[in-house]
Parts: sequence; structure tokens; C-alpha cells
Amino acid sequence: MELQDRYPCYYFVADWHALTSDYADPSKIRTATFEAVADWLSAGLDPAKCGIFLQSEIKEHAELHLLLSMVTPLPWLERVPTFKDQQAQLEDKDLNTYGFLGYPLLQTADIIVYRAGFVPVGEDQASHLELSREVVRRFNNFYGDVFPEPQPLFTATPKVPGLDGRKMSKSYGNTIPLTASADEIRALVMTMFTDPNRVRRSDPGNPDICNLFHFHKLFSDEATIARVDHECRTAQIGCVQDKKLIADIMIDRLAPIRARREQIDRDPSIVWDALRDGNRKARERAAETMELVRDAMKISYPELRG
Ligand code: SF4
Repeated sequence: MELQDRYPCYYFVADWHALTSDYADPSKIRTATFEAVADWLSAGLDPAKCGIFLQSEIKEHAELHLLLSMVTPLPWLERVPTFKDQQAQLEDKDLNTYGFLGYPLLQTADIIVYRAGFVPVGEDQASHLELSREVVRRFNNFYGDVFPEPQPLFTATPKVPGLDGRKMSKSYGNTIPLTASADEIRALVMTMFTDPNRVRRSDPGNPDICNLFHFHKLFSDEATIARVDHECRTAQIGCVQDKKLIADIMIDRLAPIRARREQIDRDPSIVWDALRDGNRKARERAAETMELVRDAMKISYPELRG
């Protein structure tokens, strides 16, 4: 959230990206869009400080994606690690599609259409950004310096795992919703994976390989993190006891967010107003970029403008 105070920021809901894996049943995308923006606003994103927009409302992303597809070698897309990973993880879906292969290129368009200097990424997305940087270099090499090379901006807790230790994702069903009640948070925390080598309560644990400990790093204060680290390694705290502790901490930290979220649920126009305003800001910036791109690629026809 502090990024919005330090940089001009854009945040967007990638509803076209959702179609790359959910094209056969897009019925949940609209609700998911609302939920995502409602969560961001609840967590503290401020539409007065940043642009919050919807990808499918900014058609320039699609135009740039198409133009980038002309210059991007196919093997660059095939070697992106998450391409094969996700195909394997979501094996119930047929992801052998043109759209799914092109996902990282659409993501590149999403970034560079704003000529972004930095992209906040998790470690697992660094390879996507590397592809974006390669595409920018290739584009600039052909057509001149239109785009800056976007740099990764790793946050203090770059990797947020899900309940099961895999990447947190609704597709994997391993998330903790911000709307979860205290009882629901307690129940979800009880399903969290811990140090797999700690079998008995008397065994010393290893927080370095414990999924739950990531949540301490996200939610707990320094003293609690240090205490749990020590008590785990010396078997003074059991995993069930630690689960109760982290559940209480999370319930406490999430309470104000949940209160704001309830306000939004009573007045959904808060979400749609934020998106309308953000779409306008994003469209202006993206339109400027596409003028530069069309000029650079020699497909600009001012004579045909009204
Ligand atoms: S005590 Fe806590 S940190 Fe240690 S293994 Fe159990 S859940 Fe993980």
C-alpha cells in the first residue's frame, strides 16, 4: 500500500487474463473483478492517489499485445517456466491454447503500455518480467527507444504462499479471503501446512521450511517472530498452539479491513466509481503510448483522423 505514496501507481484487474484459464466458464469473472477491487479498497488502496482499472476496458492493451506478437519469437514464450507449471497444476483445464501461451506477452503489454519504470512482483513472476524486458529490448532495437525496460520491485514479503505452501491463488483453492469471519480464519489456519519433518510435539521444528511461519512474517511483530522461531526450534511451542496464535494475530490485523469491506458491500458503487475514475486515468496514459508505438511502427495515419 505504501507504493501509492511513493510512485504514480496503477493497479488493475486482469479479466482478460482470467479468460486464458477460465474461457470455458467465464461466469465467475465479473464477481471476481468486484471482489478484487473491493478487497484492494478495503486494504487501503486510495483511488485519489492511484489508478485502479479494469484491463478489458482499456483496449490499448489488446492492440499492443497484437503488435508485440509480431516481433516476439515463439520459443521465448514456450520457455517461460510458469507456462508448463500451470498447465501441470491446472490439468483439469485444456490450456493448450494460443491465449494461454501468449499470457506473458499480454502481461508485457499490460506493463509497458504505461511505460512503467517498476513492477512490483513476487519471486515467481520474475521470469515473466525478464521476458518483458527482452521484448522491450527487441522492440526498441527495431523501432527506436519507445519503452523503458521495466525493473522488478520486490516487496518485503515477495512470496505469499497459500494454505498448502503453493502460490496463493484462487485457482488452487488455498486462499484466506479478507471477508472471512474469525471462525472461518481459525478453521482455515488449522489446515495450513507446517514443517513436514516435525512429526511429534517433542520434535524440534524448522521455521525456515514451515509454510505457517511465512504468515508470521506477514502479520506478526518482530518480537513474536523471534520468539516463535526460538520456541519452534527448541520444541517449546507446538504447531497447534502456534496455529491458534497466528489465527488470533490475523483476526486482529484483518478486523479494520473487514469493517471497510462490509461498508463496500453495503454500497457497491464505491467499487464501480473507483474503476470508472481509474479507467479514465489509464486510458489517457495508454492512448499516449499507442500514438508513439504506431508512429514508431509506421502504421500511423493522421490523414484519416476526423
Ligand atoms: S511451531 Fe510454528 S513455525 Fe514451528 S513448525 Fe510448527 S507451525 Fe511451523
